[in-house]
Amino acid sequence: MNGTRVLVLNSGSSSVKYQLLDMAEGAGARLASGVVERIGESPEVPDHAAALKRVAGELAAQDLGLDSPALAAVGHRVVHGGTRFTEPTLITDEVVAAIEELVPLAPLHNPANITGIRVARELRPDLPQVAVFDTAFHATIPEAAARYAIDTATADAHGVRRYGFHGTSHAYVSRATAELLGRDVCEVNTIVLHLGNGASASAVRGGVCVDTSMGLTPLEGLVMGTRSGDLDPAVIFHLARVGGLSTDEIDTLLNKRSGLLGLCGDNDMREITRRIGEGDERARLAFDVYIHRLRKYVGAYTAVLGRVDAVAFTAGVGENAAAVREAAMAGLEGLGIEVDAARNAVRGSSARIVSADGSRVAVAVVPTDEELEIATEAYALVGS
Ligand code: ADP
Repeated sequence: MNGTRVLVLNSGSSSVKYQLLDMAEGAGARLASGVVERIGESPEVPDHAAALKRVAGELAAQDLGLDSPALAAVGHRVVHGGTRFTEPTLITDEVVAAIEELVPLAPLHNPANITGIRVARELRPDLPQVAVFDTAFHATIPEAAARYAIDTATADAHGVRRYGFHGTSHAYVSRATAELLGRDVCEVNTIVLHLGNGASASAVRGGVCVDTSMGLTPLEGLVMGTRSGDLDPAVIFHLARVGGLSTDEIDTLLNKRSGLLGLCGDNDMREITRRIGEGDERARLAFDVYIHRLRKYVGAYTAVLGRVDAVAFTAGVGENAAAVREAAMAGLEGLGIEVDAARNAVRGSSARIVSADGSRVAVAVVPTDEELEIATEAYALVGS
């Protein structure tokens, strides 16, 4: 291998995000980044093939074209790896077919990821392409945490179990938290709270994930921007039998019209905190429901880990919303958690500790970098 650059592609249903990173000496310098949006909505970008050609054009215009010998690999984000893919994987025809078999588990995400892979392979058939799975970091979760308590034969026949998502973020942030504390990741137990539009918590023991809040799909767990997170499964039967809603309608309700949006009409935490400032009761209740769920998971994962060294907040809400961090951690001195109000209020873009000096558990804000993590994993694979 001669090149040191990795192109990271995140092909979603209607957008393709890309970053070109230079991994020389493990630095991960960002050479270019961008996004092509509204795929399928405009005549200029009718499909993913056109979107990726546009990405190639944008890179070529900066003298960073896909034909450059400096390019070592393309790293593709793939949402669902099922139980088969637990590591970054060099993409072959057989691997693409296997990712395709997982489409029933991720009908919205895997097809777009596969299209991105196909087009990128057509553009540079000679270049190693690596799939990095959102589920992979959670493959170490023990059976006791991964199994749902339903009939085993039925669960196995349909692949029903906890897979977990946001894995590249949980992996990156748990490592970066140990670095921030100046300790070896092997000896640090961390609760990672990835709070973006989608949100998930994980319990990480010595760098190894032992539980996470998302499940078969990204619907389970925390209250999110538009997703309900945990609820009594019987709510679904009730809505079908008594409310007369179809399966698809309930799917849309729980994934797109619930969470913060469903509770108060807004899914952006900035807007919600602004409304709370004006005395808005619905916004207040949405915030309280969000925080209550978050605190329940912190308590649960404290018990799962037995000893917690750090709680790390990341992603859009976790990195920016001081009010969320403050409310989520308030009154947890009994668990050894004590936030320093002044430190927590300071805005910043680098990893930092916001707990008080005497706090037994460090509370940290650790900006996530999923693209860097994908590039690092892809580069390690093609370089080895
Ligand atoms: P995604 O899950 O789409 O990757 P992000 O991690 O970028 O999302 O998080 C997006 C969310 O972050 C927004 O919906 C918003 O609620 C929240 N957010 C961003 N900036 C701020 C801020 N300054 N204060 C509070 N919340 C913020």
